[in-house]
This record gives sequence, structure tokens and C-alpha cells, in this order.
Amino acid sequence: MADAAPPSKSRDLDKLLLRPGNLVGPTFDPGVQVFFLSVLIFEGFGYFQLRDDLQEYARVLVVGAGGLGCELLKDLALSGFKNLEVIDMDRIEVTNLNRQFLFRLEDVGKPKAEVAAKRVMERVSGVNIVPHFCRIEDKDIEFYNDFNIIALGLDSIEARSYINAVACSFLEYDSDDNPREETMKPMVDGGTEGFKGHARVIVPGVTPCFECTIWLFPPQVKFPLCTLAETPRNAAHCIEYAHLIKWDEVHSGQAFDPDNPDHMKWVYDEAVKRAELFGIPGVTYSLTQGVVKNIIPAIASTNAIISAACTLETLKIASGCSKTLSNYLTYNGVEGLHTKVTEFVKDKDCLVCGPGVLIELDTTVTLKKFIDMLEEDPRVLMTKASITYHGKNLYMQAPPVLEEMTRSNLELPLYDLMDKIPKDVLHATGTINKDDKKSSGLRKLRVVFKGIDGVADMDMAGGA
Ligand SMILES: [Zn+2]
Repeated sequence: MADAAPPSKSRDLDKLLLRPGNLVGPTFDPGVQVFFLSVLIFEGFGYFQLRDDLQEYARVLVVGAGGLGCELLKDLALSGFKNLEVIDMDRIEVTNLNRQFLFRLEDVGKPKAEVAAKRVMERVSGVNIVPHFCRIEDKDIEFYNDFNIIALGLDSIEARSYINAVACSFLEYDSDDNPREETMKPMVDGGTEGFKGHARVIVPGVTPCFECTIWLFPPQVKFPLCTLAETPRNAAHCIEYAHLIKWDEVHSGQAFDPDNPDHMKWVYDEAVKRAELFGIPGVTYSLTQGVVKNIIPAIASTNAIISAACTLETLKIASGCSKTLSNYLTYNGVEGLHTKVTEFVKDKDCLVCGPGVLIELDTTVTLKKFIDMLEEDPRVLMTKASITYHGKNLYMQAPPVLEEMTRSNLELPLYDLMDKIPKDVLHATGTINKDDKKSSGLRKLRVVFKGIDGVADMDMAGGA
């Protein structure tokens, strides 16, 4: 071919997808026909045309449209993924513009998810991105089940924990407590802090989940309360005084919400007063946000590197063109450059990716009593629990219309609500109160009813 045709858009991808290799996945067949990781993604097996079909069918959710999320969306689109959705609750702020390159000055105040989706679609032909401007908890669990892969570009442990719990909740175990492949929801998680970052692959039931290795996130450094109360020496001390001590004194019972601008402003004003009292300079609103939310400056290049690693892992999961990272990559660009991959192991007793919390009940226990029990159970510690059973709402705390619709179930025996099946899985979402911290959470609960005879094995899935 002597034609000077422009290079194919998929030129670089083809190097990964059209050639054999020693590191390819067990089912990878190089060529235009690429075996899609169908075990994970579709039930049954199937071949798909890579450039035409494969990425058409792979549905990827990007969680977060901030520094990492913007990069992820752009990288995934450029890697040929065509069906992307993005969820983010934030609006664009002026301070985002130095690194969140999809946003312009005129976008300030608009939802990040919407602008990010629009900009990438304008620049990359053929990609469709659906934005969701809401909190991750606002979507019901089934929303997340719709995606083949979930890519996380988040800056908070709580949000990661939540999505991890949701993805792990889809995981089912067979009667020998082996995870079922077709119920695994792979996640790729990126994170950055200044010049440091990580990229990891989580395949629930195979790799450790986020919760298995929660110890990787050391507890945040806290100042001694006596320092805050008596001898503040810097601006951060004044801010933490307002945040940790003064707030509770004044707002008895009302939890501080770092995402509520009124709350943040109140803490800032109090910190300024405190700083004036002790002659301490340097309290600003952005420092207040930084200290209270533990924000560390974000670096565009770190986001770009971590996002590239995450996108490559997503492509590997979708195509099987190479083994995935096993399973945790750290990047450190503080002095020179250092990267390393560590293979962490699963916590076999993990409450989130394991088979679930086993709860034994009498057949007479009502749904209301069950919800009360979840508050007391040290393995759950959940208040205001909403309960779903195979996607059916048994009781919902919110919105009011659903609460009203499901309220009458509260007085019914759970056994009846679970179709008199002696052993099955429920999902509870609510507020988890652990170590004096409240966070949104989800727990998989394996309920076994006592005193039901004649049922040897209630593994209902059956089949080949
Ligand atoms: Zn786990």
C-alpha cells in the first residue's frame, strides 16, 4: 500500500491487541477478534470485534470528575472505550482550573460531571459519556451493577469504601464458599497525593478489596486536644480547635459536614477569632478546607501518570491483552522517580468481599427488629438501615415516598419477606458508626433462619 493514508486512530492500541505475547491473559487471542474477558463481563463466552464491538459493549463507570476523573475520562475515550458514564457531586471551582484540564473559566459553578462529559465528547469522536451530577449514595445499588468495570478517581477514603462495598455486594459465593466468577465486578482505583500516587486493581473475591487493606491508609495525624484547647501555635491548630472542639460546644448533636459550605464558613470564622486571640497569622478559607478535609495539593503530572496506569489496567481487564497488575502499584516522584508493584493478599475474614456477615434469626423476627439488631451487632453497627433483597426494597429510609410504600413491611416477619427461603443474602445500606466516625456504608448479610428442617442446601442457582 503506497497510499499515504493517515495513521489509524487505533495504531497504538493495535500493538497491544493484535500481537501475541507472553503476558497475555489465558483467553487472549490476538487479532481483530479479541476475546473479551467474558467470564467477568458477560455470562457465557463470546468473541467480539475489538475496534468495532468490544469497546462498544464494555461499559465503564468513572467515579469522580476531578483531577483524576478528568484524566481517566479522556484516557479511556482515547483508548477506544465508547460507553462511559461519570458520576460526581461537585461543581467546578476556580482553584480546579490549574489541573482539571477539561474545565474553563466560564465553567465555574457548573457540575463537573456534565462539563467533563461534554468536553471529552467534543474532542473524541464516537464516544458517548453519560454524566450523573449527584452523590454516589444517591444511586441505587443496581445502577452500579450495570457496568462491567468501575474506575475510581476519588480523593476520599469514605467514598472508596462505599463503592468498594457496592461492587463487592454483587459478589456471590457458591455452596463451597468459592466466589462465582460471573458475579465479580472489577474495579480500578487510582489515588494521588502531591507527587505520590497509587493504581490498583480490585477483583472482588480474587484480589484484596479496598477494605481488606484499609490499614494502607494510616489514621490521619491528629493534634493533641490539649494543644488545640490551650496552646495553639499555628493556623492549623486554630482551625482544628474550631472544627473539633468549638463546633460540638455550639452545635450539640449536629454533625459537622465538610461538604456544607455554611459549616465550613462557620469553622473558618471561628478559627479567625481564635487566631486573633493568640496572635497567630495565616488562617485562610482554603487552608481551613485543606486542614478540615485533609486536602493535600494536587499535581497535574501525578494525576496524568496514575490515570494512564489505571486506564491501561482497565483496557487489560476488558481485552485480556495482558495480565493485570497484581495488584497495587505505588508511584513516588518526590525525588527522582520510584515505582513498585506489591501483591497484597486478601483478608479471608473481610466483611465486605467475603461471603457476608452471617446472622442467625428466628422465623418470627420482624423486619423492624432486624433493623434494630443491625445497630447493636458489632460486625455491622449500622443505623438507619435500608434493606433490599435481590433488588427488591424491603424497607427504605428515604425518599419519603419509598419509605411510606415500604413501611408496612416493618411489622412483617423477615422470613416471610424473604419468601420463606431459609438461607439467603440481604443488603443493608445505612450509616456505619465505627470508631466514633459515621460514614455511609453497605453490608452484605447472610441470613439463616433457625429451626427450619429438611433443607440441606439452599443454593438456589443450580445449573450446570
Ligand atoms: Zn475485602
